[in-house]
Amino acid sequence: MKQIKNKTLLASVLTDGKGLQVFNPFDNSLIATIPVSCQSRVEQDVLDLDIGQKVWQKMPAAERCHLLKKWNQLILENEDDLARLITLEGGKPLKEALGEVRYGASFIEWFAEEGRRAYGSTIPSPSNDRTLLTVKQAIGVAAAITPWNFPLAMITRKAAPALAAGCSFICKPSESTPLTAFAVTELAYQAGIPKDVLRMVMGENAHDVGEVFTYHSSVRKFSFTGSTLVGRKLQMQCASTIKRTSMELGGNAPFIVFDDADIDSAIEGAMASKFRNAGQTCVCANRFYVQDAVYDEFVEKLVIAVDKLKVGNGLDEDTNIGPLISMEAKQRVLDLIEEAKGRGAKQVNREQKLGGQFVAPTVLVDVEHDRPLVQGEIFGPVLPIIRFHDEETMIDMANDTIYGLASYFYSQDMNRIWRVAHRLEYGMVGVNEGVISTEVAPFGGVKQSGNGREGAKEGLEEYLETKYVCIGGLER
Ligand code: ADP
Repeated sequence: MKQIKNKTLLASVLTDGKGLQVFNPFDNSLIATIPVSCQSRVEQDVLDLDIGQKVWQKMPAAERCHLLKKWNQLILENEDDLARLITLEGGKPLKEALGEVRYGASFIEWFAEEGRRAYGSTIPSPSNDRTLLTVKQAIGVAAAITPWNFPLAMITRKAAPALAAGCSFICKPSESTPLTAFAVTELAYQAGIPKDVLRMVMGENAHDVGEVFTYHSSVRKFSFTGSTLVGRKLQMQCASTIKRTSMELGGNAPFIVFDDADIDSAIEGAMASKFRNAGQTCVCANRFYVQDAVYDEFVEKLVIAVDKLKVGNGLDEDTNIGPLISMEAKQRVLDLIEEAKGRGAKQVNREQKLGGQFVAPTVLVDVEHDRPLVQGEIFGPVLPIIRFHDEETMIDMANDTIYGLASYFYSQDMNRIWRVAHRLEYGMVGVNEGVISTEVAPFGGVKQSGNGREGAKEGLEEYLETKYVCIGGLER
């Protein structure tokens, strides 16, 4: 922990060997240990937050806005330390980690402002003796479970709208990356956000905390980012108390290059979309479809770009791809590659066998469409390419999945852009862009990629109820 300058960030959570161990995916060395809570402790946290929320929601929105802006400012002042923590426990290159800190902070600033605009409405009344209106009210205690691939931003884009709306917020981060989560929470406390309004917890195991968050009747909203497998289970648990949910689950993003595309721009977009966090994001391009006429040019240029990528320690300045999060993750990706190769796929870029938790960037052609590599989430730096002939078949292939999070396509034809953007069954479509996430636009999926949206004005709605008030017996 000597790389972290601001010692207050983790002072309250580091233990001398007891609790959850946190490892560096670069060399599997032990970074720190942090305390864990038993299930009844987490239940007590929820009860505390229930009391805290009643006070928090009465605070004028402008005052909540002020505290959130202070939090945003402290995160930016500590951005180097936070980026280092992200790289140390998550493995991503430092430059990307710094980008994540700024991206994560941007949600706090955005929702600090949006919280002041939680407008209700007046409704033209059907009779003269009644006035009809709606008001927006905080849902109550909001609970969240977040993953390791964006250990800071996945928390702030849930916590910020929750707090701005007047909810209290409790979160369990991933066991792989809890240090960033606790550090960012400490900064919230330093900004003046009360401890009975925001709390970070690590349980003895994820399942126990998940039970409290999903079954406890005082938790009124549950927000999850993670796999579709776990999200499906947690959504079912939430059904017992009819909780509002937001589910940001898996994706299987197609990246389509039509024959009228600007190929250099498509290569740039493909590299940015595919290799962010070593391919470990739910919006990473997962499968590439390239039309006949531009296929050879695209593959040739792509291989040149991919073979320039440097794999290494995220803390090194020139690293483009860090380690995967675990040995199991690496093995799963290698198995997917082997399976596809066994069915005729060919690697067209430089082959490298790497040790530790590293997987070399891999470009595969002649991949069959029904292979697990194409049908599921890869979560690694692997790029399967499939050749296609016509738009109609292409759209069917792109939509032939249980997922519907992000999709990308490249074309210069305006009619095609509208046509294809409308027909892709995805919550997000990037046209001639490989990276589209921003705090001002709604992020989320359709089908089994989940429900709800994060960021934008929609993100605040996730933490608000609409109450209809009818005032009757009026004289006019
Ligand atoms: P990932 O592949 O990103 O790790 P997971 O869905 O397995 O995706 O994990 C995302 C988050 O869900 C993590 O914080 C993890 O601890 C948590 N999690 C996993 N299984 C459960 C469960 N049964 N109940 C509650 N939380 C869980």
